[in-house]
Amino acid sequence: MMGRLSRSSAEAFDADDELAGLRSRFAIPEERTIYLDGNSLGRPPLEVRQRVLSLLDDEWAGRLVRGWNEGWYDAPRRVGELIGRIVGAAPDEILVSDSTTVDLFKAVTAALRMRPGRTAIVSDILNFPSDLYVIEGVAKLLGAGHRLELIGSRDGGVTPDLDALSEAIDRRPALVVLSHVTYKSGYLYDLAAVTRAAHERGALTVWDLSHSVGVVPIDLDAAQADFAVGCTYKYLNGGPGSPAFVFARREVAEKSESPIWGWFGRESPFSFELEYRAAPGVARFLAGTPPILSLIALEAALAPTLGSGPELLRRKSTALTEYLIALFDARLASLGFTLHTPREAEQRGSHVAIGHPAGYQISQALIGEMGVIPDFREPDLIRLGCAPLYTSFTEIWDAVDRMKKVVEERRFERYSSTRHAVT
Ligand SMILES: *Cc1c(COP(=O)(O)O)cnc(C)c1O
Repeated sequence: MMGRLSRSSAEAFDADDELAGLRSRFAIPEERTIYLDGNSLGRPPLEVRQRVLSLLDDEWAGRLVRGWNEGWYDAPRRVGELIGRIVGAAPDEILVSDSTTVDLFKAVTAALRMRPGRTAIVSDILNFPSDLYVIEGVAKLLGAGHRLELIGSRDGGVTPDLDALSEAIDRRPALVVLSHVTYKSGYLYDLAAVTRAAHERGALTVWDLSHSVGVVPIDLDAAQADFAVGCTYKYLNGGPGSPAFVFARREVAEKSESPIWGWFGRESPFSFELEYRAAPGVARFLAGTPPILSLIALEAALAPTLGSGPELLRRKSTALTEYLIALFDARLASLGFTLHTPREAEQRGSHVAIGHPAGYQISQALIGEMGVIPDFREPDLIRLGCAPLYTSFTEIWDAVDRMKKVVEERRFERYSSTRHAVT
C-alpha cells in the first residue's frame, strides 16, 4: 500500500497525535482488541476503579447513611455542573439522574405543557426509535391531540430533509425534538440554527445529546436551547447504565413542571411536608433517590474528557472519521460496502456507518475471529465509533484491513445472520 493510506501513514498520524497519551488513562486489558464501539459503551478510565473502591470501602461500608451528607446528596448537581462545562450549561441548569429515556419523558412532557393549544411535535425518521416511542407515549398520556410529525430523508436515511424541517417549523409546532447526532448515520444537526428557527415560530426544543456529548463542542446557553438530555455511558465513559443528564434553560426551568413529583425534586425533601412544592430551577426534574454508585463512578470517569476539552476532542474525532472515510473509498467501496455517513466533516459526529448486504455476518466475523468490535444497526449497517480519547489511527487502519479480508476471503459466510439479543 502506498502513501497517505498505508499502515505507516496511520502510525505517523498516531506519532503526531497530541491526544495519543490519553489512551494510557484507560483500563485496556487486551491491547490487541480493536474497540470501535465507544459510541455505545465507553472504555473505563483508570480513575473510576480507585474511586469506586473507596466509595464501597470508605464511604458506604465506613460511613453508612452518614454518606448522604458527605457528598452523596449533592452528587446529581455536582456531576451536573461538570457535564455543564462540556455542554455549555450553567450549574443551576443541569443535573444527573435517571436514564435518558426517563429524562426525555420529563422534558417532552414539561415542554408540551408550556405550549398549550399547539399540537404538533416535530422529529425525524433518523431519530432513535426509543425517543419516538417516548414522544408518542407522552402524546397519548396528555390526551390533548398531540401528533408526531416525522421529517424524512431524501438520501436513504443519511441526512434529514432540512427543507421539510423548516417547513414543519413554519407551521408553528409546539416542540422540536431531535438527536443532535443521529444514532445510525451520525448526521450532526446545527443545534443553534434549528433552535433559532424554532424560537422564531414560538416552538420549544428538546435536544438529545447522547451521540454528541464528549465529541462535538456544544454550547446550550449560547444557543438558548430549552431542554436537553443525554447519555453518559457512551463517549463520557460513565459505565453501563450510568445515569443521564437533563438540562433546562434557567428561564424555562422556572416556568416548567416535572411530570414526576418525587421527593428529590421537591423544595427541601427532608421537611416531609404532605404537599408537593417544586424545587427551584432544574432541580425539580429530580425524582427519587439517585443511583449513587453509578453517579460517583461517572464523576470520576469525566476526568479525561474535562482535561482535554471539546475543541481538541473534536479535532481528533474529525481526523479519525476523515481517515476512515478515505480508507473506505480506497479499500472497501469496491467490495459491496456503502457509506451511510455524511462526507462533510461539519455534518457528522464521531461514528461512521458502513453498509453491506451481509453487514450482520461481517460484524459477527469481525468480533468472532478478527479481534475487532464494531456494532451493528438494522438493516445492514456496521457502525464504527471513533472515540478520540482512546481510538488510534492504526486501529482504524487495521479494522478496515480486516473488514476487507472478511469479505475478500468470504469468512463472513460461516456466521449466521440470526441476530443476538443485543446487537
Ligand atoms: C443511547 C441513546 C439513548 C439511551 O437511552 P437509555 O435510557 O439510556 O436506554 C437514548 N437516546 C439516544 C438518541 C441514544 O443514542
